[in-house]
Amino acid sequence: MNCPKCSYELVNKYYKGMFEVEYCPNCRGMWLDFDELDSLEDVKFRDDEMKGSLVHRAEPTGYRCPHCNESLHQFEYRLFGLKLDYCPSNGHGFWLDAGEDERVIAIMQQRAAEVQRKQDAESEWRQVLKKIKSKSFFDQMFK
Ligand SMILES: [Zn+2]
Ligand SMILES: [Zn+2]
Repeated sequence: MNCPKCSYELVNKYYKGMFEVEYCPNCRGMWLDFDELDSLEDVKFRDDEMKGSLVHRAEPTGYRCPHCNESLHQFEYRLFGLKLDYCPSNGHGFWLDAGEDERVIAIMQQRAAEVQRKQDAESEWRQVLKKIKSKSFFDQMFK
């Protein structure tokens, strides 16, 4: 499987002890697979939270899904002002450019400080990833 951004061969890497990702040693981006197991666990997440707030706008990009060669789409993650790439075909997964994950964690840490809540930004990020990786998330994007 090759990097959608630079065509370098992706390698498996364990991300922060959470799950395995396909990592690009060249541009340091990573591919996160849609995960069936996670989608089962996602049942407990509140759907309302996802509607409208997560996805601002989705549009096609010139990059290709490393799994199926479908054109990757990009959506704006409104809360963070971040643009992330994903494959619309059966929720194959999504792509994070180098540093995008760290940026989200940093923004979350800042937010946690603002609301004066003791919060583990990494665990919040993990919840976000689970939502993004859930089947319902992908379904809602195309309603
Ligand atoms: Zn790359
Ligand atoms: Zn795909």
